[in-house]
Amino acid sequence: MIQSTLSTVLTTSDILPVVSQSKPLLHTYLDKRVTKSQRKNKRTRSQTARARLQTKEHLAGLARELYEVELADKLERCHSRLSVLTCGRHIARIIPNFTCEFRLCPDCGRRRSRKLQSKYLPAMRAFMLHRKVTPVHLVLTQTHRKENRKQSAKRIKGSFTRLQRRGFWKEYFKGGTWSLEFTKDKNGLHHTHLHIIGFRRKFFDIELLRDEWLAVTGDSHVLNLKPIKDIAAGLQEVVKYVSKPLDIRRFGAADLKEFLGLKNMRMFGTFGEFRDFCKGFEPSDDDDAMSDLESLARDLVEGCACPQCSAPLFDLRLSKSELPQFYEQIESSPPGKVGRSWM
Ligand SMILES: [Zn+2]
Ligand SMILES: [Zn+2]
Repeated sequence: MIQSTLSTVLTTSDILPVVSQSKPLLHTYLDKRVTKSQRKNKRTRSQTARARLQTKEHLAGLARELYEVELADKLERCHSRLSVLTCGRHIARIIPNFTCEFRLCPDCGRRRSRKLQSKYLPAMRAFMLHRKVTPVHLVLTQTHRKENRKQSAKRIKGSFTRLQRRGFWKEYFKGGTWSLEFTKDKNGLHHTHLHIIGFRRKFFDIELLRDEWLAVTGDSHVLNLKPIKDIAAGLQEVVKYVSKPLDIRRFGAADLKEFLGLKNMRMFGTFGEFRDFCKGFEPSDDDDAMSDLESLARDLVEGCACPQCSAPLFDLRLSKSELPQFYEQIESSPPGKVGRSWM
């Protein structure tokens, strides 16, 4: 009986939140946010590169407003000159002149989330195999209150800690990873979500989980659960909140100031049995989580054959604003045509 309830939920391929019919729709805003935040990014590479550049310029501007001169300088220098190893149609590797390592920097965040993926993916695969568990992506939300970002994050993390102590959770989950996502609505209220990859041992009734979440939060039963078919894609989706924990385009100087105050707050972590498993886990040689292309790219130099088309690679020096243009040229040129104007 319980088993059939959950399998109905999990076979739904869309990601619309599963809302209990018996409860009033009090938190429609949160439900919409949950859905929106999980939507796949369909922008082209040139658009993404341009958006990253704009985000960094915006952040540097805010830093200047706050007289955070050092931060502004670092953001402006980060990836400002690039050595691009390319055949003209594909980019094999990009080496930046400098990386700022600021937590909100989209370029540095991407690198950080790639690192997390290569660190945790082999452990996740081994854990699933040894413990016979199935991964699910669980999004926990909470009702909004008048509180700052730190208080909001503390509250949801506290609720999650209490959830893990409950018998229900221990019976069905064997640990996993969590990451924080922050959003802010137009009234300036903070919404904090926890994205969890949970390793489930068996099926359970989602309504029971909802009741458990309500019991530990006191006022929230809104959550979203979907199965993860491909653990690599599932992990990638969750770590993207590490590189982009909030919507920076709508960020003001006060938001940046508040974020700088969060300096030591953890945004990603492991929990439960998976946490212990990771401590003793040594990846083997064939456990490399990086794609073949990516690991191959590390050894490429000028004159090597492009891994995608075998044409010779050459080193192209670009400024940060030229990178989106270069992507654009690649995207618009017919197959076979090399971007000669860049050579
Ligand atoms: Zn950076
Ligand atoms: Zn190529």
